[in-house]
Amino acid sequence: MLNPGQTIGILGGGQLGRMMALAAANLGLKTRILCPEADSPAFQVVQDHICAPYEDEEALARFADGIAVATYEFENVPLATAQFLAARVPLAPGARALELTQDRLTEKTFVRRLGIETAPFEAVDSLEMLEAAVERTGLPAILKTRRFGYDGKGQVTLRTRDDLAAAWEAIGRQSAILEGFVPFEREVSVVAARRADDAFIAYDVTQNVHRNHILHTSTVPADVTPATAEAAATIARTIASALDYVGVFAVELFVVGHGAGQHLVVNEIAPRVHNSGHWTQDGAVTSQFEQHVRAIAGWPLGDSARLGRVEMTNLIGEDADDWAQLLAEPGARLHLYGKNETRAGRKMGHVNRVWRKDSGLPATERESR
Ligand code: AMP
Repeated sequence: MLNPGQTIGILGGGQLGRMMALAAANLGLKTRILCPEADSPAFQVVQDHICAPYEDEEALARFADGIAVATYEFENVPLATAQFLAARVPLAPGARALELTQDRLTEKTFVRRLGIETAPFEAVDSLEMLEAAVERTGLPAILKTRRFGYDGKGQVTLRTRDDLAAAWEAIGRQSAILEGFVPFEREVSVVAARRADDAFIAYDVTQNVHRNHILHTSTVPADVTPATAEAAATIARTIASALDYVGVFAVELFVVGHGAGQHLVVNEIAPRVHNSGHWTQDGAVTSQFEQHVRAIAGWPLGDSARLGRVEMTNLIGEDADDWAQLLAEPGARLHLYGKNETRAGRKMGHVNRVWRKDSGLPATERESR
């Protein structure tokens, strides 16, 4: 268990690391960030940072020296880096969570073995294997690289048999999986936290809408039946316990069917704080960033209660130019990431809008964060 004043080491200096560092500071903890990019948004909010490649063992040793726990804000931390650190300091979440979720094949195999539904999938290592796999999944289907895919990168939708050769080229002829198309009604996620002693807390299920493969809005509560909401939390709990997971994570899910026939299909596990949990900063008693800090510090988990109906909208590229209008909008809470350069498709910030329910909470509850 950490004491206030101790230091958390964060691998990765993007907006997630930045918001994690800010949450840690609120609890009297220090943070040290390691990231290779000199203009990392998280560097702006911490005094202690190391700008070095993740493979630089001399830098990693300096990073590890004096921190009480190491964590990460992105799932593509090289496994050797995680193992190097884990040999020196507590690493939370552990290297196994990274190893498993870095590869879509091992991730989906793991989820299936827990008895949790995924899309039908098959390993594809050649055009011949792709042709054979399509025979079984049917079309449409989605070809995804096993590694390093995010925000729709590294995946191609196959609609006809004529698409196969071009799709195999498009993903760079690398190890992939072919997934059967899930006819989903909507996409949701559950953000949850687990501590080493198996204490667990889940936030309310979030409904997510993507535009151009990038998350656009998250709305809570999601339009799902109470049974589906409960099933989502159970899935998160099952996955976290099986991984002996420590920290905040997200499970992305497809909602299939209606009413009593409604059920969930797991798409992806993110072993980190997640964009679809940003609403918790203004719409829940404890933000996902504080929750992560609490979990990895071994502190009591915070109350995940929702304060009302919440909508989070990402500000992508030039959307962030509207910052002054958003600041003037009553009830809107603006978060900007301090990125120097606006680029199309780049996440520049987000805005949370909360329609508070009469929860009986003191009026200062929301403003205090
Ligand atoms: P992913 O990179 O796996 O998160 O996929 C990005 C998006 O593609 C998802 O949010 C879905 O909208 C869509 N998608 C991915 N896999 C499937 C699937 N098996 N069936 C239907 N849609 C999918």
